[in-house]
Amino acid sequence: MDKQEILKRYFGYDQFRSGQETLIDSILSGRDTLGIMPTGAGKSLCFQIPALMMDGITLVISPLISLMKDQVGALNQAGIHAAFLNSSLTVSQYYKALEYARAGRYPIIYVAPERLLAEEFLDFADQVKISMVAVDEAHCISQWGQDFRPSYLKIVDFIERLRERPVVSAFTATATSQVRDDIVRILGLREPTVMTTGFDRPNLYFGVLSPKDKYGAVKNYVDTHPGDSGIIYCLTRKQVEDVCEKLRADGISATRYHAGLSDGERKNNQDDFIYDRARIMVATNAFGMGIDKSNVRFVLHYSMPKNMESYYQEAGRAGRDGEPAECILLYGGQDVITNQLFIENNQDNQELDPATRAIVMERDRERLRKMTFYCFTNECLRDYILRYFGEYGGNYCGNCSNCLTQFETVDVTEMARAMAGCVESSGQRYGVNVILDTVHGANTAKIRQYRMDGNPYYGRLAKTPTFRLRQVMNELQIRGYLAVTVDEYAVVKLTELGKTLLNGEGSVEMKLAKEAERQPKAEKKGRKKTAAAGLSQADESLFERLRALRMEIAREEKVPPYIVFSDKTLLHMSAVKPADREEMLSVTGVGEFKFSRYGERFLAEIGKWRIDAAKEPVYD
Ligand code: ADP
Ligand code: MG
Repeated sequence: MDKQEILKRYFGYDQFRSGQETLIDSILSGRDTLGIMPTGAGKSLCFQIPALMMDGITLVISPLISLMKDQVGALNQAGIHAAFLNSSLTVSQYYKALEYARAGRYPIIYVAPERLLAEEFLDFADQVKISMVAVDEAHCISQWGQDFRPSYLKIVDFIERLRERPVVSAFTATATSQVRDDIVRILGLREPTVMTTGFDRPNLYFGVLSPKDKYGAVKNYVDTHPGDSGIIYCLTRKQVEDVCEKLRADGISATRYHAGLSDGERKNNQDDFIYDRARIMVATNAFGMGIDKSNVRFVLHYSMPKNMESYYQEAGRAGRDGEPAECILLYGGQDVITNQLFIENNQDNQELDPATRAIVMERDRERLRKMTFYCFTNECLRDYILRYFGEYGGNYCGNCSNCLTQFETVDVTEMARAMAGCVESSGQRYGVNVILDTVHGANTAKIRQYRMDGNPYYGRLAKTPTFRLRQVMNELQIRGYLAVTVDEYAVVKLTELGKTLLNGEGSVEMKLAKEAERQPKAEKKGRKKTAAAGLSQADESLFERLRALRMEIAREEKVPPYIVFSDKTLLHMSAVKPADREEMLSVTGVGEFKFSRYGERFLAEIGKWRIDAAKEPVYD
């Protein structure tokens, strides 16, 4: 079978996605290969398909038991024999699996890196032909990455001990050049094909809101997206507890996850979410690594995370199936303070020497600042993200809250002059809040103590609301008129460009949202983005029934529902409404093996729906 046939027959897809063919062809031609693609791009197929076409065994190295379980489960559902070897197996299960493997039952075996150098595994590796070692989540090998796993270093020793060197392929979603170089160097890839596809995830909608009542905004969102599964990220354990409790009290199916819970509870709650028994997961950043659940329709951030890397990684857990999904950040002024406290008290840094520690903290503060700017920018949010990661986006994506908000261009030169003037006349000694309070004319103890009430700019902008002052202040930093130092005291300084303002040169214009548009309410207006968006009312009723059937089958098979069929597949099925085998096989994600297992049941359900629908006319 060629790669196209495998794609169709086992995975049920008609076309390769961008980058997949290049990577597959490279591996098949015997070259080492490195694939850097964003989450949800479809990296697994890039090593799974060649694995089925090469004559020996492919070992896949993966850092987490949950990831292995998920992928092996998905392969078996697709009719491909695969197994995993990790510490979740009992000793007898482990030997049984090795015995089957020796007998040639599995073309693909997932192995935990810790196992590689164990004697019985090395023996096994000596007796069979290993045609490829595929390293998934390859950034784990780099100390620069967030998820460094020392056990990943064993992969290199393992490969060196093999009689015949297999093809080595590596995959990751982390693209910084440092990490990429580490992967190539440490894994010892030989003249690898390196393929990087863009970081953009067009199916994700990005939004920022600053609601007065955060919980109210969450509740509203959840209510207006019934049936959709999502994650709500919080900054602290306490916040997780609060939000989860409130949702439950409001009758919403929610569970929670944070490092303060027992291992047992964490595992149960995670399973409840993955198996769609709980609709919403409320969690700290401890949750997520190793979550391949493809039908996460939204990721809400209850608070702003510490940097863009974390944000994009967490938000990126939405919409892995490629269907529309939403990532919305709820910003509040307190978020900056909480994150600053985290940075000051970062326990991970305690063992560093003071100089290094200061550098790390400075870097963290800078990252936090960039994160804050994301919440304040009025430019395209996607563009902001892509530029942060070193790519060029367009200025307009049409799928973020800024692109969809109406802005007006406002001349803020006078405000900018007042702020720059205040900074200069007070000797460039104070932080953002003192400057803003001064120009706003606040009468606080601090202002009096610093004698800022005597500053020539005191009260100059008394009529402008504080949120607007803050927007302008941020804009001036983004554009380089003002700079804030990143050492212990964040002090606002005037840049060379800022000085030109004081000389009365130039003008500053910025885009500001028209007043009514900033309301969360307006955000929803005319935007229905549930999983079933785009379906007619009739199709939606079919979708709901197919979703229920999927749940029933998932229960019987003891696998997560998205492994039976993804949301994308069910949506397509609801639109196509296949009446026979052939039509069913034309649905994306329905391969022959899955058809033979569930095809008839889904056909029967569609048949029943047709009869019911005929009885009860539906007006679209
Ligand atoms: P990654 O590892 O890159 O984050 P996965 O390999 O988990 O992504 O794939 C994400 C989803 O995309 C899965 O549901 C997978 O079945 C689906 N997918 C992969 N390749 C294709 C394709 N060519 N056409 C349609 N869907 C695909
Ligand atoms: Mg993956």
